Amino acid sequence: MPLVDSHCHLQDSAFDADRGELLSRALEALDWLVVIGDDLPTSRAAVDLTQPGVYASVGIHPYHAATVDAPALQDLRELARSPHVVAIGEIGLDYFKHNDTPRDVQQSAFQQQLELAASLELPVVIHNRESEEDLAAIVDAHHARLPGGVMHCFAGSTAFVERALSWGFYISFAGNVTFPKAEELRAAARAVPLERLLIETDAPYLAPQAVRGKRCEPAFVRYTAEHLAELKGVALETLCASTAENAARLFSVSF
Ligand SMILES: [Zn+2]
Ligand SMILES: [Zn+2]
Repeated sequence: MPLVDSHCHLQDSAFDADRGELLSRALEALDWLVVIGDDLPTSRAAVDLTQPGVYASVGIHPYHAATVDAPALQDLRELARSPHVVAIGEIGLDYFKHNDTPRDVQQSAFQQQLELAASLELPVVIHNRESEEDLAAIVDAHHARLPGGVMHCFAGSTAFVERALSWGFYISFAGNVTFPKAEELRAAARAVPLERLLIETDAPYLAPQAVRGKRCEPAFVRYTAEHLAELKGVALETLCASTAENAARLFSVSF
């Protein structure tokens, strides 16, 4: 059964003690996965982890938006030339109270990286937290020049699902869609057609309900697949095959 983790952070220090073992376990359970950067060092580390079955995405997260300047963009551009880099991200906006980077700084970093992705003809991996309106306004102005995108770890309304679908984007759900209180997320997942759905772990964060509280790892994407298959009333195999095909289409991965 094909199974893909479209978004994880294997370079995170949470995996320092056993990254090799974890990666073998992940590649036994999955066909392939994408390691996502959130600043320059983690983007470099993601590229360093690439091997058969392991792809990378490079970008600067809104938490680190203040580090986006001309040299950083040039470094990203060079990293993106590595053969296993499949996307720019994660990039986006995060207006949650823990992020003290000013909104205008985040918006500028986001726009510059969308332009970088357009010029490299790479899809984008977008992070959004409590920033739907501003994020939509920015993506509205850029999506036509992008080869595609995904709203990762979706955390928005059903209306926002419609907006992202109108851009031709994919919508990705992480383990938090399996939490008992996640009714709003489940409503959003019901609104995503199977051919636009992706699954991810966002490991080491957000372990699904069945393993909640544990360090999340790529193989756990299966629990999210099981939950979404039931939610959408399709066989687990169908859900896994569709999400794997969608990820392959978005990231131009052949497997
Ligand atoms: Zn994110
Ligand atoms: Zn992430």
